[in-house]
Amino acid sequence: MECVSAILRIMDKSFVNALKRIVGEDGVRETDAQKRVYAGDAYPLAKATPGVIVLPSTTQDVAAIMRLCQERQIPVVPRGAGTGLAGGSLAHENEVLLSLTRMNRILSVDIPNRRLRAQTGCVNTYLTKAVAAEGLLYAPDPSSQSVSTLGGNIACNSGGPHTLKYGVTINHILAAQVVLPDGEIIELSAEDAGYDLLSLIVGSEGTLGIVTEATVRLVPAPAAIRTLLAVCNTVDDASNLVSAVIAAGILPAALELIDRTILDAVEAAYHLGLPSQAGAVLLMEVDGPEAGIDRQAERIKELCLNGGAIRVDFAKDKEERLKLWTARKKGVGTLGRLAPSSATQDGVAPRTKIPGVLREIALVATKYNLRIANVFHAGDGNLHPVVLFDERDPDEVQRVLDAGGDILRACVAAGGSLSGEHGIGVEKQEFLSMVFSPDSLDTMEKVRSVFNPEGLLNPNKMLPMGGTCCPHLPRPDDATLRALTHTKAVAV
Ligand SMILES: Cc1cc2nc3c(=O)[nH]c(=O)nc-3n(C[C@H](O)[C@H](O)[C@H](O)COP(=O)(O)OP(=O)(O)OC[C@H]3O[C@@H](n4cnc5c(N)ncnc54)[C@H](O)[C@@H]3O)c2cc1C
Repeated sequence: MECVSAILRIMDKSFVNALKRIVGEDGVRETDAQKRVYAGDAYPLAKATPGVIVLPSTTQDVAAIMRLCQERQIPVVPRGAGTGLAGGSLAHENEVLLSLTRMNRILSVDIPNRRLRAQTGCVNTYLTKAVAAEGLLYAPDPSSQSVSTLGGNIACNSGGPHTLKYGVTINHILAAQVVLPDGEIIELSAEDAGYDLLSLIVGSEGTLGIVTEATVRLVPAPAAIRTLLAVCNTVDDASNLVSAVIAAGILPAALELIDRTILDAVEAAYHLGLPSQAGAVLLMEVDGPEAGIDRQAERIKELCLNGGAIRVDFAKDKEERLKLWTARKKGVGTLGRLAPSSATQDGVAPRTKIPGVLREIALVATKYNLRIANVFHAGDGNLHPVVLFDERDPDEVQRVLDAGGDILRACVAAGGSLSGEHGIGVEKQEFLSMVFSPDSLDTMEKVRSVFNPEGLLNPNKMLPMGGTCCPHLPRPDDATLRALTHTKAVAV
């Protein structure tokens, strides 16, 4: 089979006109200025400019686009809001970027069965807004939820602060409509007998099919919530408390760590009155029925004070709770005050190993002369060291890449993994061999080639090309992969 990645397909006028016949004149973006808007996602270490951008409104549009692209052998990259932190939606000049942002309608709400069906360009928070009056919510809450889309969340199997108790995206998707690379439309359901193909699609980073609609599970909004902030002298003190709380048999709805660097940046931006002396804080939440909730919160307070916290504050009302969550959810965004660029890493360590891994991350910062802030889902062991740098400085960029590798090695050595929620994208392909044997990688390629036999859908994402999909191409070694995937932006 001829491999598309080996050939630069020409996107001529007739191809662009054919796209316009499907989605209308205003559904295609083709000028240089328009393309620059889509020349990257939230991963700052690689950029690429797509050949053309197409904005479908329906599943039928998506299917027609895929049929056309297959006929012309032109690769397609699906994209939601472009908040991905691993470069998963980068499209190159020989690729079509298929943006789902116009497919943002909520299609049906089924309160008795606690389900909602939406197009996948729908922004995460709109799902909960649509059912809040009924006392229900959609639980997965990535910190990007005011922007990121249901489709992006499904493709990355996104988590969020409250997934400690409620689970990640895969636990909340009941069915999905998927367009395959040849334009076939399939419907997958959690209730299907046989192989669980729905679970295969969730977390597949747009390499198996384009998810155009999904049915999500709704859960009752908790009757009572208590939000606490444990103020600690050091990151070490705060991280030691994480296991102490969980080991006591309490399952908080959220357990997040925020360090001094982030607190300072948030305070400068939002003036929330956050603790000014803390080396780090733990933001914790318990929820459930009113009965017993104060006892749980008091128990957490006691555990934290006994474990070395300086003090534990309670959010007195909704406004105070909102302030604390602003500190958490807007934390990374405020780092622009401290450096021109920041790269958010995503590794996992067993909870009990978090303090040790954080100490190693501090050593990595010293080794590479970089500033690294921490704000992360501590209860899940999902670390997000944020490396501050200047992307105009090639030497610093190289140090950021090397530091990222060292951080992931520390997570894996501690018994953790390469990604908690951001996915592999282009960022982490060179590290896959740290955790997967060549046989395991080959098996994954075989799975990809069942859905995506010509590699036309989101090529070179998650898994490198080569192997089963394109057997005549050698699988790139780590150095080549790095050169392929970390191309710096020149003029964006
Ligand atoms: C400030 C900030 C905070 C964040 N916090 C979190 C967090 O708490 N938890 C978390 O998990 N992530 C977080 N992220 C990462 C990111 O927001 C998530 O990965 C999110 O799910 C991406 O959604 P998106 O719509 O932006 O997708 P995009 O970035 O556009 O795409 C991401 C991937 O999904 C694929 N894709 C998109 N739509 C579809 C579709 N319909 N069908 C098939 N494939 C598709 C793309 O090809 C790409 O591979 C954060 C990012 C930022 C910038």
